[in-house]
Amino acid sequence: MTESATVTGSVTVRVPAKVNVQLAVGAARPDGFHDLANVFLAVGLYDEVTAVPADELTITCSGPDAAQVPLDRSNLAARAALALAERYGIEPAVHLHIAKDIPVAGGMAGGSADGAAALLACDALWSTGASREELLEICAELGSDVPFSLIGGAALGTGRGELLTPVETGGTFHWVFAVADGGLSTPVVFGEFDRLTAGTDVPEPAAAPALLDALASGDPVALAKTLSNDLQAAALSLRPSLAATLAAGTDAGALAALVSGSGPTTAFLVPDPETAHRVAAALTASGTCRTARVAVSPAPGATVV
Ligand code: ATP
Repeated sequence: MTESATVTGSVTVRVPAKVNVQLAVGAARPDGFHDLANVFLAVGLYDEVTAVPADELTITCSGPDAAQVPLDRSNLAARAALALAERYGIEPAVHLHIAKDIPVAGGMAGGSADGAAALLACDALWSTGASREELLEICAELGSDVPFSLIGGAALGTGRGELLTPVETGGTFHWVFAVADGGLSTPVVFGEFDRLTAGTDVPEPAAAPALLDALASGDPVALAKTLSNDLQAAALSLRPSLAATLAAGTDAGALAALVSGSGPTTAFLVPDPETAHRVAAALTASGTCRTARVAVSPAPGATVV
């Protein structure tokens, strides 16, 4: 248990958003899931989850997108607390407050981030003694993106995306994220991918060696040439207006633009902080997005603060 937990009886965990620098999607499996080769990069936009002892499990949420966040047991933070409590035979008597800064339903794994953060916060509050491996196992049960939110940094996810291998990064990468109005449902985007690829030969997903080399070198120009997202066509098909956002960012000087995960957030890789601020201002002025956020990567995973 941390010092702050002992003094105040509460634990706060900070957790980053993610961008997929590569998202390779295989054909739908018989169970409906898709095999993925998913290169995750944690980016410095953060939610904070605070766990406080309470009579029963309750959730509150603050932040600009708070109204879109469910406050019942479907919230991934609640599910994480329940999963941990059940495994260790603990009463899930905890209040979770989510200070939300990660765009909701934006393809940046905000819900997954809150799941990982709540798990770590409750683990510290209840002193379960769970190993890192046990926590990662619970994360994988909660969702494909949750284990990465716990570890952060950069990693290759295979299987449904939940089997993680850390990936080397040789420097700081600068990003701008254009947040769209309204979300896109991840299952609906995968459904559109299935529709668009029906009858075609979908290759086995594999990480691109050139992309891994670019991450290791820390060279944004090399990384820009290798970014890819197999869900981009599906996201654009469902939300054609994203094409104008992508164009506005590249016109303003981004090295590369892509849909973040299942969208509708779009991600722009830029060479330096000055360009990041110029691209963010141009995106905001273009009227093609709700807001633009500047962030750096890689960022650390879920951390008790
Ligand atoms: P991913 O990138 O992992 O596909 P996402 O970033 O597109 O996810 P989320 O912000 O995780 O999307 O939210 C998707 C949906 O999950 C929301 O519309 C909401 O109904 C539900 N949800 C459950 N728990 C949370 C949470 N803690 N924060 C936000 N949304 C949550």
